[in-house]
Amino acid sequence: MKITIIGTGYVGLVTGVSLAEIGHSVICVGRNKEKIDDINKGKSPFFEPGLEIILKKLIKRKLIRATNELESSVKSSQIIIIAVGTPTIKNKIDLSEIKNVSMQIGKVLKGADDYKVISVKSTVVPGTTEKIVLPNIEKFSNKKIGKNLGLVMNPEFLREGNALEDALTPDRIVIGEWDKKSGTEFAKIYKGKKFPVIRTNLKTAEMTKYASNALFATLISYSNEIARISEATGGVDVADVWEGVHLDKRLSPIIGNKKINPGVVGYIFSGCGYGGSCFPKDTKALLNYADSLRLETNLIKSVININASQPHRMVLMLEKALGNKMKNKKIGILGLSFKPNTDDVRESPSIEIIKELLARGVKVTVHDPEAYKERIPEVFKKMPIEYAKSVKETIKDKEGVILVTSWNEYINLQPEFFIKLMKKPIIIDGRRIYDREKFEKKEIIYFGVGYMGSGES
Ligand code: NAD
Repeated sequence: MKITIIGTGYVGLVTGVSLAEIGHSVICVGRNKEKIDDINKGKSPFFEPGLEIILKKLIKRKLIRATNELESSVKSSQIIIIAVGTPTIKNKIDLSEIKNVSMQIGKVLKGADDYKVISVKSTVVPGTTEKIVLPNIEKFSNKKIGKNLGLVMNPEFLREGNALEDALTPDRIVIGEWDKKSGTEFAKIYKGKKFPVIRTNLKTAEMTKYASNALFATLISYSNEIARISEATGGVDVADVWEGVHLDKRLSPIIGNKKINPGVVGYIFSGCGYGGSCFPKDTKALLNYADSLRLETNLIKSVININASQPHRMVLMLEKALGNKMKNKKIGILGLSFKPNTDDVRESPSIEIIKELLARGVKVTVHDPEAYKERIPEVFKKMPIEYAKSVKETIKDKEGVILVTSWNEYINLQPEFFIKLMKKPIIIDGRRIYDREKFEKKEIIYFGVGYMGSGES
């Protein structure tokens, strides 16, 4: 099939690659000429493991290309997928890119004769596809959805860092359809594939995405609340607590003779907070949407509030370890991205941690394997921090280190490495990746989320 995807961000480009891999002919429409040229040379505008290899292969086979020509791309395609951004501004979803792109598509479709299906892949609050996308397309195309055109809402569930695998082998395809024909035509994209398909209405598809993200965010905030109670208790290590919880057969079932470790268990674990382009903005958008329905949603509110204050707790731990003396201390930060295997720093806990450290007069050196490899992310540009070229440089002569992102290259660092290089070996483990007993035995001051020391004095 001929498919146009509008938006060449994390979702648009990865979706494009996955559909081209199935054998479709894909055009990715972007706005930034430099990024488009890069994509056509097989260079991704962001880091995602494995993406460039497969992109280069598909470009060679002429199955995918990028352009800024929306009109010709839309006209030549049977399916048009909207994958533009839907950020949250002042706690409310900003639908300006959705409005804009649906008007643009509508205008182009005025001159098209064949039946095409428009699909909303961006995350949007229930009612958006029907109340904003549909009227815009009908108004500017002078055509009727359900007659000359089809409309579906097909939420995306990929996880950055695992995006290729998620998009190539999706665990489900949710198709919210305006009418049967729209859904049937859209479902042809996956013809011959055995992915479970859920066909439903537009609003249910929109809601499914929020329910999914809010669930994982809730598990994380719940785990962080338990961490706080453990910290205040003293002598409790929340990592041991979770080990005891995870072994419950209802969470980790035994199938055959094998213990299964389902992905959901990874979210029932304490850390320095969730970040990224989805959980923070989607939970806020959901709360605001519920408010607009005059609903009291205390759970979602608490999930957001717990997460907002979680980075601050890392600074409190450091403060305690340093004996309240923060000013002019040299501190290293391991990890800027919101999780490993991505360069995405959007709403990463590292931002709030660093801001607070700087406000307290701390001298900050940061490291991340990907986040500033190409360019320094906008959010850090005004911060007076040093960017280290290696882990060694980050921790050398420092009086404390805060581990923010569980990148593989940090996981195997041994206590001796920190002791040898640091001025004072204080480790605040924001992801609980280190074996605390091993670190404590080596006379390191080790605090981690949900663990404020052995409680012995
Ligand atoms: P992004 O900000 O990385 O990319 C969006 C892109 O759309 C930008 O490059 C922007 O320039 C482009 N764009 C906007 N208007 C355009 C137009 N008129 N023409 C051409 N290009 C246009 O965002 P993203 O992370 O890819 O997310 C896109 C959507 O998918 C959001 O709604 C997000 O919530 C949702 N989503 C994201 C993820 C994720 O992990 N990033 C996962 C699932 C769903």
